[in-house]
Amino acid sequence: MLNIVLFGPPGAGKGTQSERLKEKYGLVHISTGDVFRALNPESELGKLAKSYSDKGNLVPDEVTIEILEAEVSKHPNAKGVIYDGFPRTKAQAEALDKFLNAKGTSVSMMLSLVVPEDELKTRLIARAEVSGRKDDADPEIIQNRINTYNSSTAPVANFYIGQNKLHEIDGVGSIDDITQRLYDIIDA
Ligand code: AMP
Repeated sequence: MLNIVLFGPPGAGKGTQSERLKEKYGLVHISTGDVFRALNPESELGKLAKSYSDKGNLVPDEVTIEILEAEVSKHPNAKGVIYDGFPRTKAQAEALDKFLNAKGTSVSMMLSLVVPEDELKTRLIARAEVSGRKDDADPEIIQNRINTYNSSTAPVANFYIGQNKLHEIDGVGSIDDITQRLYDIIDA
């Protein structure tokens, strides 16, 4: 199985690039952010997730891990999976390892999109126009998401460095150029 963790700060292009990788390699794309946004906003779980995501805070690990595992389990015959926006904490990375090991598989690689902070902010503000996402529109929430990434999520890369699985990709340039950089690493 090809299990790709697509990593990077908010606005790095994970969703856009996931769509390309999904097509080319026939993978299942799982974005925990998309799963949270698709929950019924009136349900208990939906309300809980929204209470964190609207402020740009991370949804607690327990809930997120359960959601992720349920989502993966919907695709028992997948050739592989792109994990977009997961894991975002060390506990999530450990849980993913354990979950995949129990299935006789593992994370193949972490592809980390590197984009400077100013560029992220510009992209997110522009995305708010089309995404309608509350967490894209407000500069304070954007800053909180970036800070949360730096403090809680960026260290997750160390987990994969330890396993020799981290690949950093320059996430600035045309969408096609960045896609090609990702293809080159996956095909190598
Ligand atoms: P995203 O679509 O990846 O930008 O995620 C939107 C929001 O969903 C985040 O700001 C978090 O509140 C929540 N979220 C998504 N993935 C995770 C995760 N792996 N752990 C915790 N919260 C998450």
